[in-house]
Amino acid sequence: ARPETTEPELAEPHLRAVLDTAGLAVEYVRAQDNTLFRLDEDGTEIPVTDFAGGYGSVLLGHNRPEIVERARELLASGTPVHAQFSSHPYANRLAAELNRIVGRELGTDEPYFAIFGNSGAEAVEAAIKHAEMDRGMRLAALRAELARHTASVRAAVAAGEAEVTSRTLAGAGLDATAPGGDFETLAAELERHNAELFARPPLFLSLEGGFHGKLAASVQLTHNEGYRAPFKALAAQARFVPRERPEALKEIWAEERGTLRDVRVFEGHVEVTEREFPAFCAFLVEPIQGEGGIHVLSEEFAAEIQRFCASIACPVIVDEIQSGMGRTGALLASARIGLRGDYYTLAKTLGGGVAKTSVMLVRQAWYREEFEIVHSSTFAKDSFSCHIALKVLELLEADGGAAYRRAAERGEALRRTLESVAADFPGVVKEVRGRGLMLGVEFHDQSGSASPALREAAAGGLFGYVLAGHLLHRHAIRTFPTASALNTLRFEPSLLLSDAEIARLDGGLRDVCAIMRDAAGERLAAG
Ligand code: PMP
Repeated sequence: ARPETTEPELAEPHLRAVLDTAGLAVEYVRAQDNTLFRLDEDGTEIPVTDFAGGYGSVLLGHNRPEIVERARELLASGTPVHAQFSSHPYANRLAAELNRIVGRELGTDEPYFAIFGNSGAEAVEAAIKHAEMDRGMRLAALRAELARHTASVRAAVAAGEAEVTSRTLAGAGLDATAPGGDFETLAAELERHNAELFARPPLFLSLEGGFHGKLAASVQLTHNEGYRAPFKALAAQARFVPRERPEALKEIWAEERGTLRDVRVFEGHVEVTEREFPAFCAFLVEPIQGEGGIHVLSEEFAAEIQRFCASIACPVIVDEIQSGMGRTGALLASARIGLRGDYYTLAKTLGGGVAKTSVMLVRQAWYREEFEIVHSSTFAKDSFSCHIALKVLELLEADGGAAYRRAAERGEALRRTLESVAADFPGVVKEVRGRGLMLGVEFHDQSGSASPALREAAAGGLFGYVLAGHLLHRHAIRTFPTASALNTLRFEPSLLLSDAEIARLDGGLRDVCAIMRDAAGERLAAG
């Protein structure tokens, strides 16, 4: 509920009201480890166990003491937070440290260059801008090459060394029954055909259920229609590939590909040849879809994507914004799936739950240094965030990677509990999915429930939020449905998660499952 105040409510009052309908518009006044605190009517703190984990930004815990201490030191020592266009050794150290870990996990020593940003969506935007800059430079080179070929064939025709024949015309898709002869007519037709392709906007590939941010360009790569459709006219479009359907890759390619027409002299004829047009700017993929409902990409489909992209020279952007930074037991969840990115995006826990920072990594083979001159942000690459991120990596890497092992082990313990609830409520729980501390529980659709309250919640599109409200008020548990799959509750707690906290969740989930099983919507907390 809204606190008593005389201030006008201007910071997203509508959203607050929507959250209020599920009892979720509570204020948290303090956060520590895996707990958020709110106040009851007497001003006493009520601890709430946090399974939403800042949607993935607090893997190391809220206000982790070592990180808070580092932040204090940085500010107390007068670190130059904003010193744009100067040497940033801390950013370089961070890039080197990220490379050391990425190299270890991927088994490669090819470097990845780092472009820092402020948010996850911004890292995605930097990656797609870079990919489009690269594609533009490849297009320019291709265009210049085609022009050179045209000029040299023109010279050969003028010297009488080659002629335009009906075979030539057939190759250009022109009327092959017409007499050959005029090279300029042919050249104009090829130019027209190629110009049409060169004028096409870039096209992205993304997976159905994919989530890559909500800024103007990145939201067009986010599958959720509600987020994406109102802004369609603002940016380049994506084709959404159904999950785990490799044959769809070939189908989309066949529909969207283009072939440029090139010329050469072959056995005294002018010959028209085909060149593949780089229609696809990049393929964005989450190794584990977060907002799409916690879906783990299979090794087989990952390998198909990799093969497909290599065959059409389309870079793969692996979006590890939610899955990365240790959550699944490794810095990169994709490394364990065998997926190798040409680009990676990381954010969330990179800032240790304190700083707002993100990074996109580009492997050397794809890197265009020109990008450094045209892309920047006032706040990116600042000393505060870089030093905090270095502390985060130090905490992850300490004691031979104890934090990764802890995330994997706590994830297993949590998963066992979720699976035991699922086994006891087979008619209610559809599936438990995920890896490490990135888990989801999908419930069966309740729109046919005998309980009016459950039916209405399901029909109103707020189903998962109503469950979350109940868990909050009756069990002091904070969780949320994923953004685009509202029947799936997410569990992304910090690695400090205790057995007692897991037991509390077990009780809460059994309660909501029993309410659904018994069609007893009247037992739901009113909020
Ligand atoms: N990509 C993925 C995979 C994400 O989960 C998110 C955030 N949920 C984003 C991008 C966008 O990050 P941000 O909210 O920091 O812009």
